[in-house]
Amino acid sequence: MQPFRYVRADSTDHAVAAITGEDARFIAGGTTLVDLMRLDVMRPTALVDITGLALASIEDAGGGLKIGALASNTDVAYHPLVTKRFPALSEALLSGASPQLRNMATVGGNLLQRTRCPYFRDVAVACNKRAPGSGCSAIDGYTRSHAILGTSESCIATHPSDMCVALAALDAVVHTRGAGRERAIPFGEFHTLPGDHPEVENALEPGELVTHVELPASPFAAHAHYVKVRDRAAFAFALASAAVGLDVADGKIRAARIALGGVATRPWRAVEAEQALIGQAPNRASFERAAAAAIVDPKPRRDNAFKVALAKRTIVRALELAWGVS
Ligand SMILES: Cc1cc2nc3c(=O)[nH]c(=O)nc-3n(C[C@H](O)[C@H](O)[C@H](O)COP(=O)(O)OP(=O)(O)OC[C@H]3O[C@@H](n4cnc5c(N)ncnc54)[C@H](O)[C@@H]3O)c2cc1C
Ligand code: SF4
Repeated sequence: MQPFRYVRADSTDHAVAAITGEDARFIAGGTTLVDLMRLDVMRPTALVDITGLALASIEDAGGGLKIGALASNTDVAYHPLVTKRFPALSEALLSGASPQLRNMATVGGNLLQRTRCPYFRDVAVACNKRAPGSGCSAIDGYTRSHAILGTSESCIATHPSDMCVALAALDAVVHTRGAGRERAIPFGEFHTLPGDHPEVENALEPGELVTHVELPASPFAAHAHYVKVRDRAAFAFALASAAVGLDVADGKIRAARIALGGVATRPWRAVEAEQALIGQAPNRASFERAAAAAIVDPKPRRDNAFKVALAKRTIVRALELAWGVS
C-alpha cells in the first residue's frame, strides 16, 4: 500500500506540479474535504495544502473585483468593496454555514463544495455521484432537499452553495491554472449538469487550480438582494434561494439578474425571468410574471413539489427587497 502523501505547496507552480499522478486533492479550509474524508466519501491518496499560497487578496479590477481563491468567506463578505459593489454576494456568504466555518472556508473551496444529498454522504447506499453506475438512492427515496431543475435520471442532487448563486447572477469568471496553461471560465460554464455522469461536477481538468474569481463592474449594486429560505436560521442549506439585481432608470427596468439556489443541480441563472423584466416597471405584478417565467419545465418529485411555488415566491420576495419594498 502506498503511503499517504502530504505536500505543503509554496507556489502555484509547486501546487500544480505536486497534484499530478494519483488521486491527489488540493486542500484549502478543509471544511468540505476533511468532512467527507471522515465519512469515507472522499478518499484522496495525497493532499496538496495550498493555504500558504498568495491567493487571498481582494482587489479592485476596473470597477469590478478580483477575489483570490484563498480569500476566506468572512473576508469577502465584510470587505468594503464587496458590500458596496456586490451586496448580494455579501448577503449570500453571510447566510451560509456559521461564523467559525466562514472563517475557515475559502472562495475556491466554496465553488467546489460537494452536494449535501444525504445518500451521497452515506457510503452504505447506492449513489451515482459517489460510485458511478451504482444507482441513485434519492430518486425513489426522500427528496425534500433535492432539485427540481437540471436533474437527470442519474442524479437529482442540489448544488449547495449560497455564494455560487450570487456569482451566477453577477456574471463571474473563474480563473484557473493547470499544467502549462491558464484559463478563464465563465461562471455559467463552470458547474456542469449531472446528465449520465453526476460524478463530473465542473469544467476543471484534473489537477487544475482555481486562482481567483473575477467580477465585472455591475450596475446592480443599488438594487440587489439575496434571499435564502431554509428550515432554520443557521446551519441549514437553502430549500430555495434567489440572488437578484435590478438596473432601473426613468421608472423602467433596463436590465435584471436572477439566479436560484436550493432548487437546481447547479447554481441556476434564470435568463427567461430576467428577459421578462426588461422594459417593465418594478412592481409586484412584473415581479410575479418574472417569477412565473423562471421555472421552466420543472421535474418535481414526491417530497419536493413544494419547491415550484417556493422558488417563485422567493424570487418575488428578493426582487421586492432589492427594490426597497420591506
Ligand atoms: C456544517 C456546515 C454547514 C455549511 N453550511 C453551508 C451553507 O449554509 N451554505 C453554503 O454555501 N455552504 C455551507 N457549507 C459549506 C462550506 O461553505 C464549504 O465547506 C466551504 O466553502 C469549502 O471551502 P474550503 O476552503 O473549506 O474547501 P476545502 O474543504 O478545502 O475544499 C473543498 C474542495 O475544493 C477543492 N479546492 C479547494 N480550493 C481549491 C482551489 N483553489 N482550486 C482547486 N480546487 C480547490 C478541494 O480539493 C476539495 O475538493 C457548510 C459546511 C459545513 C461543514
Ligand atoms: S441524487 Fe445524486 S448525489 Fe444523491 S444519491 Fe442520487 S446520485 Fe447520489
